[in-house]
Order: sequence, then structure tokens, then C-alpha cells
Amino acid sequence: GMSPAERTGRPRVGVMGGTFDPIHHGHLVAASEVAASYGLDEVVFVPTGKPSFKQDRKVTSAEHRYLMTVIATASNPRFMVSRVDIDRPGLTYTVDTLRDLSAQRPDADLFFITGADAVAQILAWKDASALWGMAHFVAVNRPGHNLSIDGIPEGAVTTLEVPALAISSTDCRRRAEAGKPVWYLVPDGVVQYIAKHGLYRGQSVESNRDE
Ligand code: ATP
Ligand code: MG
Repeated sequence: GMSPAERTGRPRVGVMGGTFDPIHHGHLVAASEVAASYGLDEVVFVPTGKPSFKQDRKVTSAEHRYLMTVIATASNPRFMVSRVDIDRPGLTYTVDTLRDLSAQRPDADLFFITGADAVAQILAWKDASALWGMAHFVAVNRPGHNLSIDGIPEGAVTTLEVPALAISSTDCRRRAEAGKPVWYLVPDGVVQYIAKHGLYRGQSVESNRDE
């Protein structure tokens, strides 16, 4: 059949930003659900460089997070990975992500996919008021996080219920550190990548020590 872009004329491109430390099935289900509901032609996963709001903990190197994201999305022909955030120096701000992606895809309508918890941080983002014209925001309801924010223009953000997946990267890191399984929480290739590179071993995940 016709793709959504063939129907509307403009490609509809989802943008899924995240630290992806590691990427897990919650991220993948959220992207898949938004793609299906909003008729997206593709979803671009964008691992952050230095997240502006995660400066309180040690984040795994960008290359490891990028490669895990590539491994996790490789089998889906509509899932892509972008290096724009990890290749840009300095902290990652969503306004820069959207500006870079729309420069690469001037023909596309962008849909920024975010968990309800992350939407709550939108107002703290640099140039938040510039964001609304750059993409439509889709807030996925994530177990344990509710969307409640003021100051966002009417229609700029819509919400979508996704199947309850109480998976977080924080829990995956804690499990890997404790020697507990992460099988089925993250894709098989990511389980193997974590083991191969010894990620999350022997670190206190809440610590902010830089060794
Ligand atoms: P951490 O525990 O380190 O904060 P995380 O699991 O929240 O990691 P992020 O990389 O911070 O993962 O999340 C990227 C985006 O995916 C955010 O918008 C977040 O809200 C969303 N997200 C994360 N986990 C889920 C989930 N289980 N279901 C739906 N959305 C999720
Ligand atoms: Mg998070």
C-alpha cells in the first residue's frame, strides 16, 4: 500500500532522543507504537551527547551507547540512528537536535517522541519556546510517570498510551552491575554487547565520581 508520505506528500519522521544507556524494549515499543499511531515513515533514534539533565551521574561513552542503539534497531527497516547529538560538541539540547535533523530533512514533518517524564523537563530546555514550531511532540505515558505541565501551547504536545513496560535504563544498569539478567529487557544483541564490553560492572550507578 501507500506509505503515509505518499498520502500526505511530506515524509513523517519520528525523532526518539535518549541517553540509551542502555537502549531497552521500553524505548523500542514506544517508538513502534508512535510510528503506528501517527503513521510515521521512519523513526530516527538520536543518542545524546552529554545530556544537559544527567550531569549528576557517569554516562557510558557515546560510542558504546551509539553502537547499542544501532544493534537494537538494525532489524527494523523503519528505524534509523543519527549521530547528530554525539558528534556535536558540548551538552545536548533538543532544540539543536531538531535544528540539525530538519536541516538534513527539510522535506519532513518531525515528531519528537518522549516519555511523559521527559516532557516535564521540556520547559527547562534551552529555547523551549522555539521547539513548538520545529516538531510535533508526542508524550508516551510510561508506567509511574504522569504528564502534568503548564505553559505548553495548545496542540503542541499530544499523549499516547503505550503498553505498560516498566523498564528503565537505570534498572538495567543496576541489574548488570549486580550480575542479574537483563535478558528480555533489552534486545539480545544488546545483552551480548554489554557482556562483551563489561559495561556497568563495578560502578555505583548513582555515583558521580569521574575516575
Ligand atoms: P534512565 O533510567 O537512565 O533515565 P531511561 O530508561 O529513562 O533511562 P532514557 O534514555 O532516559 O531512558 O529515555 C529516552 C526516552 O525514552 C525518554 O523520553 C523516556 O521518557 C523514554 N522512555 C524510557 N523508558 C521508557 C519506557 N519504559 N516506556 C516508554 N518510554 C520510555
Ligand atoms: Mg530517563
